[in-house]
Amino acid sequence: ATTLLSVRNLTIEAGSKNSPLRLVDRFSLDMSPGDRVALVGESGSGKSVTARSIMRLDPDFRLTGSIDFDGQDLLKLSEKQMVGIRGHKIGMVFQDPMGALNPLMTIGDQVMEPLRVAGVDRAEAERRAKSVLEELGVANAAVRMKAYPHEFSGGMRQRVVLAMALISDPSLIIADEPTTALDVRVQEQVLTLMDKVSKERGLAVLLITHDLGTVAGFTDRVAVMYSGRKVDEASVDTLFNNPAHPYTQGLLQAVPRIDQTVPRLLTIAGAPPHPGNRPTGCAFNPRCSQAFDLCREQIPELRPAPEGGMVACHLYPAAGKEQ
Ligand code: SF4
Ligand code: MG
Repeated sequence: ATTLLSVRNLTIEAGSKNSPLRLVDRFSLDMSPGDRVALVGESGSGKSVTARSIMRLDPDFRLTGSIDFDGQDLLKLSEKQMVGIRGHKIGMVFQDPMGALNPLMTIGDQVMEPLRVAGVDRAEAERRAKSVLEELGVANAAVRMKAYPHEFSGGMRQRVVLAMALISDPSLIIADEPTTALDVRVQEQVLTLMDKVSKERGLAVLLITHDLGTVAGFTDRVAVMYSGRKVDEASVDTLFNNPAHPYTQGLLQAVPRIDQTVPRLLTIAGAPPHPGNRPTGCAFNPRCSQAFDLCREQIPELRPAPEGGMVACHLYPAAGKEQ
């Protein structure tokens, strides 16, 4: 299969050059056209930083490695060339729909904006805005385009943000916690909608989330990040039924049952380390119930996992080899 996005050894540093803070270390990920991949981890794992850096949204970060998208390395493009990629070839959806919308602009003008910026005339932009809103289940789209964001519910606002991301017909959407700010019922509606639209359009989606519970029905593959590294990657089936990494196993225990209404409990005691203060060896070792001596000495590299996929854990020294 052809590759749409190929991130290779992406390393992200912040802070001064003399005392850099390594936020993400040698992150790699491949996506084919139409692939739906979830990037999962706790807050502070580096998943949002990775997603934002693929779009080069933070000029203060130093990025090394390569990000091949659609035949070009995004790290080699000028900021002006990136403007032609962001919101056009790669759509973006972020957590807080209200923050992504201009309260003083009508819904219609905002959905149309990426097309207008690209020079599409108003009548054509309006026609396409109406069509994409209808695709996203917004009834009376022509009338509602004249409304303002505060007149929409949270779920409807996230549909508008999705419409803005889709209107330029991108081949990839990067969605960072797109449903976290919504209540559970609306979360489901928005994910179901994203599922439908991405399948119908053959659209690749990189879904960033801290919540493994939301990815099962939506993505094909899951990559798990911990303390700035990818530590596990597998198909959804393998990840849920045979999770390899102890951290993934812990995250899965934190996924609530469908009948649970109590707040989600984190079952892994402790918190991820600050990027400036990582423990020696495996960054997860202070929280890992299966840690042994080697874990405190050596960083485990990603290797093929026994059930398929990749895992970075010393429990799998000869992983992938037939015994
Ligand atoms: Fe646990 Fe060791 Fe595997 Fe890290 S390398 S996850 S500490 S068993
Ligand atoms: Mg985040």
